[in-house]
Amino acid sequence: MKRKLIYADHAATTPLMPEALEAMLPFMKGDFGNPSSIHSWARKPREAVRAARATIAECIGAEPEEIFFTSGGTEADNWVIKGSAGGLLVSAYEHHAVLNAAAHEARRGRLVAYARPTRDGVIDVRQIAAAWRKGIGLVSVMTANNEIGTINDVGALAAEVHSRGALFHTDAVQAVGHIPIDVRRMDLDFLSASAHKFNGPKGIGFLFVRKGLKLASLLDGGQQEDGKRAGTENVAAIVGMAVALKTNCVRMARVAKRLDGLAERLRAELVAAFPDAVFPGADAPRQLPGFVSVALPGRSGEGLVHILDLKGIAVSAGAACDSWNTQVSHVLKAIRLPARLAKGVIRISLGCENTVEDVKRITSAFI
Ligand code: PLP
Repeated sequence: MKRKLIYADHAATTPLMPEALEAMLPFMKGDFGNPSSIHSWARKPREAVRAARATIAECIGAEPEEIFFTSGGTEADNWVIKGSAGGLLVSAYEHHAVLNAAAHEARRGRLVAYARPTRDGVIDVRQIAAAWRKGIGLVSVMTANNEIGTINDVGALAAEVHSRGALFHTDAVQAVGHIPIDVRRMDLDFLSASAHKFNGPKGIGFLFVRKGLKLASLLDGGQQEDGKRAGTENVAAIVGMAVALKTNCVRMARVAKRLDGLAERLRAELVAAFPDAVFPGADAPRQLPGFVSVALPGRSGEGLVHILDLKGIAVSAGAACDSWNTQVSHVLKAIRLPARLAKGVIRISLGCENTVEDVKRITSAFI
């Protein structure tokens, strides 16, 4: 009998949902017109882009004109970090899209300061206060960390940053479509998101820019994206992203509850099998649904990924882009996880198609 493959690496990427694929197909076939044309072939694609922008805005509590389509999370992060003004304050455990963009700015002479997360893996207002420098214009702290799944109270952070006279950006790539986001209630200035993390297509994302804020143009050319990010729109991907986000927002509470249950079960089974297992990020006030980061002392995280892969199970030993790298990740270093433990860290990120049976197979594959 053919063994079922188990995909448990949803923090790296997620499968495209059938509803999104269906919605995309017409724009890859007959409805291929350029949304900027003035003839009738433009009508359907233009209307589809308009509707998608409105849907995405509604899902995060924004206005349509505050949504700027990008090629994904990396582009959105680079745009806001490099296009903003004043000194930068970023957390030390951001994704490299933020960290390397900030390092680029530092090389150009811009002030860059770093806030260190707590050992529990969160950034709170005390970390921001401790790292504050005169001249900070933009603070960037992720909504949820991609290696340990911890969730920050970005509303509280935005309030603190605003009280100090700076703007606040959050990389919400791991959070959008998985936990409730309301840019108005959280009083955010900028937010980055990426469709392939919420069952949408790859190579598409968006940057939310609060109305009235100045941000340098990213790409000069035509008038797309209010002239700030020129280039013919990826209509099919934009449509797929909107369908995926809307679908995930509608089912969010139900899916999160189920994934929390599966993650709890997985942690309990892992502790039963490995009494000395440690769970980085599990002591934070909130962790992403279905997210289990586990350190097995004395084991190699990378080795375990290969062993599980041979058994048909996909997990990760840290961020996907680092999986070839046996160095302890910057995230685990930032939360001061001892190297002995950090080398044995596995990230299991469950998604809506995973089952109790999958959880049992994942645990027994470790033994
Ligand atoms: N930010 C975070 C927190 C991520 O997890 C990722 C992807 O791993 C990115 C940014 C980059 O997003 P994209 O793959 O869409 O460029």
